[in-house]
Amino acid sequence: IIVNKKGLQFIMNNYLDLKNIKAFSEYSKLEEAGQIIRNGGLVLFPTETVYGLGANGLNSEAVKNIYVAKGRSSDNPLILHISDIEMLGKIAKDISDVEFKLMNAFWPGPFTIILNKTDAVPSVVAGGLDTVGVRMPNNEIAKNLIKYADVPIAAPSANISGRPSGTNVEDIDQELKDRVDYIIDGGECQIGVESTVVRVIDGIPHILRPGKITAEEIKEVAGSVIIDKHILGKLDANEKVMSPGMKYKHYAPNTKCVLVYNDDKEILRANICKTVGDCYTSNKVPLVICLDENAEFLKNMYQNLQIFNLGSSLDEMSKNIFTDLRKADKTNADLIIIQGVSTDGLGLAIMNRLLRACNFNIIR
Ligand code: AMP
Ligand code: MG
Repeated sequence: IIVNKKGLQFIMNNYLDLKNIKAFSEYSKLEEAGQIIRNGGLVLFPTETVYGLGANGLNSEAVKNIYVAKGRSSDNPLILHISDIEMLGKIAKDISDVEFKLMNAFWPGPFTIILNKTDAVPSVVAGGLDTVGVRMPNNEIAKNLIKYADVPIAAPSANISGRPSGTNVEDIDQELKDRVDYIIDGGECQIGVESTVVRVIDGIPHILRPGKITAEEIKEVAGSVIIDKHILGKLDANEKVMSPGMKYKHYAPNTKCVLVYNDDKEILRANICKTVGDCYTSNKVPLVICLDENAEFLKNMYQNLQIFNLGSSLDEMSKNIFTDLRKADKTNADLIIIQGVSTDGLGLAIMNRLLRACNFNIIR
């Protein structure tokens, strides 16, 4: 038995602690996990975005186990993670110049591209589509794990479907520990929101899911970019979407959430205060998740208000948001009030996640 820093217990032979790597040679400890993947097992592993629930991406039985473990709809395809460009040829075909240009610019990194799939990719990975999402992560543990597995690793975010994604092992071990064969603990994820998902149509990149690689950066490389309208909008019933993931409930805590945003900082702050006040009047316990500037203000204003401070930048916010949403569920709060941000740059990815966490319940 191994006990980690939060006192959680793991069986020694299926938990690998790589939080404090001191020498490159330590990555050879990933050989066993790589073998488990190749032989059809499920491995929880870190990437620079969020934790992944990985299986051999060329083995349909192994991949089916991912859908079962997560409770994920079978029409919601998985991303294949590769460690080098040779792997790409096995799984994708008819790649265009613009697509190569984007991969060149953003790989390894938090960037997923939807390509035409080859027959080597089982239909279950692609959720029945004829395309496949591919990413080369920029995280030494992920890269070495894929190398040792010697197959592309199919991996969705590590969480039960609909819940916030996992950005550290402590947040997700309770829900996934008994559903995986092996856990690799790499500490906190650097970025904290999932990769940017792009599909190129007629030479123009369409962002299907925003992430750390921004629309602005993609436009700089490809000359143009289109942000899919569903990224910030609610879907109508039976509406056709380019990415099945858009249809489903996502990132949501169990506690009710409301998003508060306005371009005008004073109005934003006043709306947070009004929502807090409404809670107090109706005997409900509020909890506010917000940036530093508002956290300080609210702390002075309300003595007993629970406040989670997301930090002072979009990067800090993206790193903390999922773990704070999970933490909020462990409090006695009846309502989680979350501060929104402008949709420029990384703000687009953050608002895409928060709108869904709040089920599009927004005060402007
Ligand atoms: P997750 O695995 O939780 O990071 O989510 C992956 C996202 O990528 C989901 O929203 C999927 O719908 C989307 N995705 C994966 N593969 C494809 C594909 N072939 N076509 C369109 N969207 C995809
Ligand atoms: Mg996910």
